[in-house]
Amino acid sequence: MFDTLSDRLTAALQTLTRKGRLSDADIDATAREIRIALLEADVALGVVKTFIARIKERAKGAEVSQALNPAQQVVKIVNEELVGILGGETRRLNLAKTPPTVIMLAGLQGAGKTTLAGKLALWLKKQGHAPMLVACDLQRPNAVTQLQVVGERAGVVTFAPEPGNGVGDPVDVARRAIAEAKHAQHDVVVVDTAGRLGVDEELMKQAADIRDAVEPDEVLFVVDAMIGQDAVTTAQAFQDGVGFSGVVLTKLDGDARGGAALSVREVTGQPILFASNGEKLEDFDTFHPDRMASRILGMGDVLTLIEQAEQAFDQKQAEKAAEKLSSGQLTLEDFLEQMLAVRKMGPIGNLLGMLPGAGQMKDQLAQVDDKHLDKLQAIIRGMTPAERDDPKIINGSRRLRIANGSGVTVREVNDLVNRFFEARKMMAQMAGRFGF
Ligand code: GDP
Repeated sequence: MFDTLSDRLTAALQTLTRKGRLSDADIDATAREIRIALLEADVALGVVKTFIARIKERAKGAEVSQALNPAQQVVKIVNEELVGILGGETRRLNLAKTPPTVIMLAGLQGAGKTTLAGKLALWLKKQGHAPMLVACDLQRPNAVTQLQVVGERAGVVTFAPEPGNGVGDPVDVARRAIAEAKHAQHDVVVVDTAGRLGVDEELMKQAADIRDAVEPDEVLFVVDAMIGQDAVTTAQAFQDGVGFSGVVLTKLDGDARGGAALSVREVTGQPILFASNGEKLEDFDTFHPDRMASRILGMGDVLTLIEQAEQAFDQKQAEKAAEKLSSGQLTLEDFLEQMLAVRKMGPIGNLLGMLPGAGQMKDQLAQVDDKHLDKLQAIIRGMTPAERDDPKIINGSRRLRIANGSGVTVREVNDLVNRFFEARKMMAQMAGRFGF
């Protein structure tokens, strides 16, 4: 899910990172790439248009940031707008003041409602609730048994009409279930309703009747994220026919383009509450717009890093260091300042862990040791200002003095000085190549 979209968005944004300043033409070109990426991912056209217009407007009018270069600023804007169309804040489940809380599930047949009922029940149980499932899908053969099976797997009670009573009346079942839940002190009731293959008037009316009978605290519209553009039309039909207070996306593990996820909130105005990403009962979680956005941007937690950098960096200092760096003039004093700024952002292993691709570097990251940095800091602090300014003057006797003063061996001082020279040379070369 989202792989192609991620790749394209990342590519669109990466062309920017090589630029120092962004012109309006750069922004237009990037916006065009983003637009194509979203359309290919099956995001509804109206949503794409609004999204692109917002990005352009904000990127062009962006204030000069204290800590971010223009490319980082665009990444930040795209991320914020993505979070916005995914719903902004995480929306939690509404629980009734007087139990039981009633949650009704609605959606097309095969959307994953029954499976979701089990997932939700297990999730609620883990949160300390005593949920009960209610089988109101009396249309599809085996739907009741299927719900009973997932209920058993989740270890919760399922309320179902007695077998042999004909087709039965789902509204009646729903009513009796609520009474039973009160009696047996179940504090959350999850009502599974009959799905439809397409949007079907009669079944829609049945769902509305169940809704009126049980007065749910939440009606959750369950939608298969793999159905692409259809998700939007289906959502609109359910909104008109039954109405819903929240959306659950299922099959996010599938190999789909993800447009549904990005459109449904914006089109219906209702938030996404949960995401389902597998057939197992545990493959389910609260939907967090911010985490989903950074997953779509494929940038690990680099966005968190951007935020922290904004808070920790002194812009003037950073600019000065960058200038010196590219001209090979970096001093140990600048190095110390930058190290202190970076360390304000937290333990270094955590910071590196936020970088994309860091997942594969876990072992190396475990070895990044803050104590080592403490030592480097102590050595630099043991130097005189003249030595920090021009490390070339640090001869043998100075090295011995620094080592004694900062409680390390001469070899450790040598290491630092030699590595600093190497790093300075390498960074100047890199700066030349990437045009920092
Ligand atoms: P209902 O008709 O809406 O009740 O849908 P079901 O719960 O019966 O689900 C339809 C099919 O989708 C079943 O084969 C489920 O195992 C499968 N399914 C449900 N949720 C997910 C999911 O998140 N990921 C995957 N891969 N399959 C799912």
